[in-house]
Amino acid sequence: MKSFLALLIMACLSLPAHAEGFITRLLNKPVPGGVAVVKLPEQDSAPRVRYQDQSVLVIREDGQRWIAITGIPLTVKPGTEQLELDNGQKLDFQVGSREYPAQRITLKNQQHVTPDPAHLKRIQRELDEQIAAYKTFSPRQPSNLMLDRPVDGRLSSAFGLRRIFNGEERNPHSGLDFAAPSGTPIKSPAEGKVILTGDYFFNGKTVFVDHGQGLISMFCHLSSIGVKVGDELDRGEVLGKVGATGRATGPHLHWNVSLNNARVDPAIFIGAYMH
Ligand SMILES: [Zn+2]
Repeated sequence: MKSFLALLIMACLSLPAHAEGFITRLLNKPVPGGVAVVKLPEQDSAPRVRYQDQSVLVIREDGQRWIAITGIPLTVKPGTEQLELDNGQKLDFQVGSREYPAQRITLKNQQHVTPDPAHLKRIQRELDEQIAAYKTFSPRQPSNLMLDRPVDGRLSSAFGLRRIFNGEERNPHSGLDFAAPSGTPIKSPAEGKVILTGDYFFNGKTVFVDHGQGLISMFCHLSSIGVKVGDELDRGEVLGKVGATGRATGPHLHWNVSLNNARVDPAIFIGAYMH
Protein backbone atom coordinates (compact mmCIF):
# COMPACT_ATOMS: atom_id res chain seq x y z
CA MET A 1 0.00 0.00 0.00
CA LYS A 2 2.76 2.39 0.99
CA SER A 3 4.71 1.85 -2.20
CA PHE A 4 1.53 2.27 -4.25
CA LEU A 5 0.87 5.61 -2.54
CA ALA A 6 4.47 6.68 -3.11
CA LEU A 7 4.15 5.79 -6.78
CA LEU A 8 0.89 7.70 -7.06
CA ILE A 9 2.39 10.78 -5.42
CA MET A 10 5.44 10.60 -7.71
CA ALA A 11 3.20 10.33 -10.75
CA CYS A 12 1.14 13.33 -9.64
CA LEU A 13 4.21 15.42 -8.90
CA SER A 14 6.16 14.58 -12.01
CA LEU A 15 3.47 14.84 -14.69
CA PRO A 16 2.51 18.54 -14.44
CA ALA A 17 6.14 19.62 -14.00
CA HIS A 18 6.95 18.33 -17.47
CA ALA A 19 3.67 19.29 -19.10
CA GLU A 20 3.24 22.83 -17.84
CA GLY A 21 5.17 26.01 -18.38
CA PHE A 22 5.87 28.87 -15.99
CA ILE A 23 2.78 30.92 -16.85
CA THR A 24 0.48 27.95 -16.37
CA ARG A 25 2.00 27.06 -13.01
CA LEU A 26 1.77 30.69 -11.88
CA LEU A 27 -1.74 31.54 -13.08
CA ASN A 28 -3.79 28.34 -13.30
CA LYS A 29 -6.13 28.68 -10.28
CA PRO A 30 -9.44 27.44 -11.71
CA VAL A 31 -11.90 28.51 -9.01
CA PRO A 32 -14.65 31.16 -8.93
CA GLY A 33 -12.73 34.47 -8.93
CA GLY A 34 -9.65 32.69 -10.25
CA VAL A 35 -8.01 31.95 -13.60
CA ALA A 36 -8.11 28.88 -15.86
CA VAL A 37 -5.18 28.30 -18.20
CA VAL A 38 -6.42 26.09 -21.04
CA LYS A 39 -4.19 24.48 -23.69
CA LEU A 40 -5.31 25.22 -27.25
CA PRO A 41 -4.92 23.19 -30.46
CA GLU A 42 -1.66 23.64 -32.39
CA GLN A 43 -1.92 26.09 -35.29
CA ASP A 44 0.22 28.82 -36.85
CA SER A 45 -1.76 31.91 -35.91
CA ALA A 46 -3.33 32.57 -32.50
CA PRO A 47 -6.72 30.88 -32.13
CA ARG A 48 -9.49 33.31 -31.20
CA VAL A 49 -11.23 32.20 -28.04
CA ARG A 50 -14.38 33.33 -26.27
CA TYR A 51 -15.78 32.63 -22.80
CA GLN A 52 -19.22 33.80 -21.73
CA ASP A 53 -19.37 35.94 -24.87
CA GLN A 54 -16.10 37.78 -24.12
CA SER A 55 -12.79 37.51 -25.98
CA VAL A 56 -10.10 35.70 -23.98
CA LEU A 57 -6.36 36.40 -23.66
CA VAL A 58 -4.31 33.99 -25.81
CA ILE A 59 -0.50 33.72 -25.78
CA ARG A 60 2.17 31.26 -26.85
CA GLU A 61 3.69 29.73 -23.74
CA ASP A 62 7.47 29.21 -23.81
CA GLY A 63 7.34 30.02 -27.53
CA GLN A 64 5.51 26.71 -28.06
CA ARG A 65 1.87 25.89 -27.36
CA TRP A 66 -1.03 28.32 -27.48
CA ILE A 67 -2.80 28.82 -24.16
CA ALA A 68 -5.96 30.70 -23.21
CA ILE A 69 -5.81 32.60 -19.91
CA THR A 70 -9.40 32.87 -18.79
CA GLY A 71 -10.86 34.88 -15.92
CA ILE A 72 -13.63 33.07 -14.01
CA PRO A 73 -16.30 35.33 -12.45
CA LEU A 74 -17.00 34.89 -8.73
CA THR A 75 -20.59 33.97 -9.63
CA VAL A 76 -19.57 30.82 -11.56
CA LYS A 77 -20.46 27.56 -9.77
CA PRO A 78 -17.90 24.75 -9.51
CA GLY A 79 -18.25 22.29 -12.40
CA THR A 80 -17.53 22.12 -16.12
CA GLU A 81 -17.17 25.38 -18.09
CA GLN A 82 -16.56 25.82 -21.79
CA LEU A 83 -14.39 27.93 -24.08
CA GLU A 84 -15.48 28.48 -27.65
CA LEU A 85 -12.95 28.67 -30.50
CA ASP A 86 -13.53 30.65 -33.68
CA ASN A 87 -13.81 27.39 -35.68
CA GLY A 88 -16.75 26.40 -33.48
CA GLN A 89 -14.76 23.89 -31.43
CA LYS A 90 -15.60 23.76 -27.72
CA LEU A 91 -13.01 23.14 -25.00
CA ASP A 92 -14.07 22.07 -21.51
CA PHE A 93 -12.32 23.10 -18.33
CA GLN A 94 -13.10 22.31 -14.71
CA VAL A 95 -13.81 24.90 -12.03
CA GLY A 96 -13.15 23.85 -8.44
CA SER A 97 -14.42 25.47 -5.27
CA ARG A 98 -12.95 28.10 -2.99
CA GLU A 99 -14.36 29.38 0.29
CA TYR A 100 -14.45 33.14 0.74
CA PRO A 101 -14.89 34.35 4.34
CA ALA A 102 -17.21 37.17 5.40
CA GLN A 103 -16.06 40.57 6.57
CA ARG A 104 -18.10 43.07 8.62
CA ILE A 105 -17.45 46.74 8.02
CA THR A 106 -18.91 49.78 9.77
CA LEU A 107 -19.40 52.88 7.62
CA LYS A 108 -20.21 56.32 9.02
CA ASN A 109 -21.88 57.40 5.79
CA GLN A 110 -25.14 55.42 5.54
CA GLN A 111 -25.41 56.62 1.90
CA HIS A 112 -22.58 54.23 1.12
CA VAL A 113 -24.74 51.34 2.44
CA THR A 114 -28.21 52.27 1.23
CA PRO A 115 -27.98 55.21 -1.17
CA ASP A 116 -30.92 57.61 -1.66
CA PRO A 117 -32.88 57.10 -4.89
CA ALA A 118 -31.35 60.40 -6.02
CA HIS A 119 -27.91 58.76 -6.00
CA LEU A 120 -29.00 55.56 -7.73
CA LYS A 121 -29.09 57.13 -11.19
CA ARG A 122 -25.53 58.37 -10.79
CA ILE A 123 -24.40 54.99 -9.44
CA GLN A 124 -25.96 53.13 -12.41
CA ARG A 125 -24.41 55.53 -14.94
CA GLU A 126 -20.99 55.09 -13.32
CA LEU A 127 -21.37 51.31 -13.25
CA ASP A 128 -22.23 51.22 -16.97
CA GLU A 129 -19.17 53.36 -17.76
CA GLN A 130 -16.88 51.06 -15.78
CA ILE A 131 -18.32 47.84 -17.25
CA ALA A 132 -17.72 49.26 -20.74
CA ALA A 133 -14.07 49.83 -19.77
CA TYR A 134 -13.75 46.25 -18.47
CA LYS A 135 -15.06 44.96 -21.82
CA THR A 136 -12.19 46.63 -23.71
CA PHE A 137 -10.23 44.12 -25.77
CA SER A 138 -7.17 45.56 -27.51
CA PRO A 139 -4.83 43.32 -29.54
CA ARG A 140 -1.62 44.24 -27.69
CA GLN A 141 -0.01 41.44 -25.72
CA PRO A 142 0.55 42.25 -22.01
CA SER A 143 4.19 43.26 -21.35
CA ASN A 144 4.24 40.97 -18.31
CA LEU A 145 1.72 38.56 -16.77
CA MET A 146 3.57 38.31 -13.47
CA LEU A 147 2.46 41.77 -12.36
CA ASP A 148 4.36 44.18 -10.11
CA ARG A 149 2.78 45.31 -6.84
CA PRO A 150 1.31 48.76 -7.55
CA VAL A 151 2.32 50.08 -4.10
CA ASP A 152 4.54 49.02 -1.25
CA GLY A 153 2.41 48.08 1.72
CA ARG A 154 0.90 45.06 3.40
CA LEU A 155 -2.13 43.32 1.93
CA SER A 156 -4.97 44.52 4.16
CA SER A 157 -8.12 43.02 2.65
CA ALA A 158 -8.29 39.95 0.43
CA PHE A 159 -10.20 39.46 -2.80
CA GLY A 160 -13.64 37.81 -2.66
CA LEU A 161 -14.56 38.59 0.95
CA ARG A 162 -18.34 38.55 1.38
CA ARG A 163 -19.03 42.03 2.66
CA ILE A 164 -21.50 43.11 5.28
CA PHE A 165 -21.73 46.89 5.63
CA ASN A 166 -23.52 48.10 8.80
CA GLY A 167 -25.19 44.68 9.00
CA GLU A 168 -26.29 44.52 5.33
CA GLU A 169 -24.72 42.17 2.78
CA ARG A 170 -23.44 43.89 -0.37
CA ASN A 171 -21.31 42.81 -3.36
CA PRO A 172 -18.21 40.78 -2.48
CA HIS A 173 -14.80 42.45 -2.47
CA SER A 174 -13.78 42.60 -6.13
CA GLY A 175 -10.12 43.46 -5.61
CA LEU A 176 -7.16 43.43 -3.30
CA ASP A 177 -6.42 46.18 -0.74
CA PHE A 178 -3.00 47.48 0.19
CA ALA A 179 -2.53 49.50 3.37
CA ALA A 180 -0.51 52.60 2.46
CA PRO A 181 -0.45 56.19 3.68
CA SER A 182 -2.29 58.89 1.77
CA GLY A 183 -0.05 60.29 -0.98
CA THR A 184 1.88 57.05 -1.65
CA PRO A 185 2.63 56.85 -5.41
CA ILE A 186 0.75 54.13 -7.31
CA LYS A 187 2.73 52.47 -10.12
CA SER A 188 1.38 50.68 -13.15
CA PRO A 189 2.00 46.93 -12.65
CA ALA A 190 2.66 46.44 -16.39
CA GLU A 191 2.69 48.58 -19.53
CA GLY A 192 -0.72 49.90 -20.45
CA LYS A 193 -3.00 52.57 -21.77
CA VAL A 194 -5.26 54.72 -19.59
CA ILE A 195 -8.79 54.01 -20.83
CA LEU A 196 -10.94 55.64 -18.14
CA THR A 197 -10.63 57.99 -15.20
CA GLY A 198 -13.42 59.23 -12.92
CA ASP A 199 -14.52 60.34 -9.49
CA TYR A 200 -17.13 57.75 -8.57
CA PHE A 201 -19.70 57.41 -5.79
CA PHE A 202 -18.30 54.14 -4.42
CA ASN A 203 -14.82 53.91 -5.95
CA GLY A 204 -13.81 57.55 -5.51
CA LYS A 205 -11.03 58.83 -7.77
CA THR A 206 -10.30 55.95 -10.12
CA VAL A 207 -7.98 54.99 -13.00
CA PHE A 208 -8.48 52.12 -15.47
CA VAL A 209 -5.41 50.78 -17.33
CA ASP A 210 -5.66 48.42 -20.31
CA HIS A 211 -2.64 46.07 -20.31
CA GLY A 212 -3.83 44.32 -23.49
CA GLN A 213 -6.13 41.47 -24.54
CA GLY A 214 -8.74 42.13 -21.87
CA LEU A 215 -6.28 42.32 -18.95
CA ILE A 216 -7.44 45.48 -17.19
CA SER A 217 -6.36 47.05 -13.88
CA MET A 218 -8.54 49.42 -11.86
CA PHE A 219 -7.13 51.59 -9.04
CA CYS A 220 -9.61 53.21 -6.59
CA HIS A 221 -9.97 55.71 -3.72
CA LEU A 222 -7.05 57.83 -5.01
CA SER A 223 -6.31 61.22 -3.44
CA SER A 224 -5.15 62.43 -6.85
CA ILE A 225 -5.05 61.15 -10.43
CA GLY A 226 -1.83 61.84 -12.32
CA VAL A 227 -2.78 60.63 -15.81
CA LYS A 228 -5.44 61.19 -18.46
CA VAL A 229 -7.34 58.99 -20.87
CA GLY A 230 -5.12 57.99 -23.81
CA ASP A 231 -1.84 58.15 -21.89
CA GLU A 232 0.54 55.24 -22.58
CA LEU A 233 2.16 54.07 -19.34
CA ASP A 234 5.46 52.27 -18.90
CA ARG A 235 5.71 49.43 -16.44
CA GLY A 236 6.27 51.14 -13.08
CA GLU A 237 5.09 54.57 -14.20
CA VAL A 238 3.23 56.55 -11.50
CA LEU A 239 -0.49 57.04 -12.27
CA GLY A 240 -1.76 58.65 -9.07
CA LYS A 241 -1.58 58.70 -5.28
CA VAL A 242 -3.20 56.64 -2.54
CA GLY A 243 -6.19 58.24 -0.80
CA ALA A 244 -9.57 57.54 0.81
CA THR A 245 -12.07 58.97 -1.68
CA GLY A 246 -15.43 57.20 -2.21
CA ARG A 247 -16.53 54.33 0.04
CA ALA A 248 -13.36 53.91 2.12
CA THR A 249 -12.83 53.73 5.88
CA GLY A 250 -9.26 55.06 5.59
CA PRO A 251 -6.40 55.55 3.10
CA HIS A 252 -5.60 52.42 1.10
CA LEU A 253 -5.26 51.26 -2.49
CA HIS A 254 -7.99 49.03 -3.89
CA TRP A 255 -6.71 47.23 -7.02
CA ASN A 256 -8.92 45.21 -9.32
CA VAL A 257 -7.59 42.86 -11.98
CA SER A 258 -10.01 41.85 -14.72
CA LEU A 259 -9.72 39.28 -17.52
CA ASN A 260 -12.43 38.91 -20.17
CA ASN A 261 -14.66 41.18 -18.02
CA ALA A 262 -14.30 38.88 -14.99
CA ARG A 263 -12.84 40.33 -11.81
CA VAL A 264 -10.22 37.88 -10.56
CA ASP A 265 -7.94 37.65 -7.52
CA PRO A 266 -5.00 40.03 -8.08
CA ALA A 267 -2.95 37.96 -5.60
CA ILE A 268 -2.61 35.33 -8.34
CA PHE A 269 -0.62 37.76 -10.51
CA ILE A 270 1.80 38.86 -7.78
CA GLY A 271 2.56 35.34 -6.47
CA ALA A 272 0.59 35.91 -3.23
CA TYR A 273 -2.34 33.55 -3.88
CA MET A 274 -3.50 31.44 -0.96
CA HIS A 275 -6.21 28.85 -1.40
ZN1 LIG B 1 -10.98 47.15 -1.54
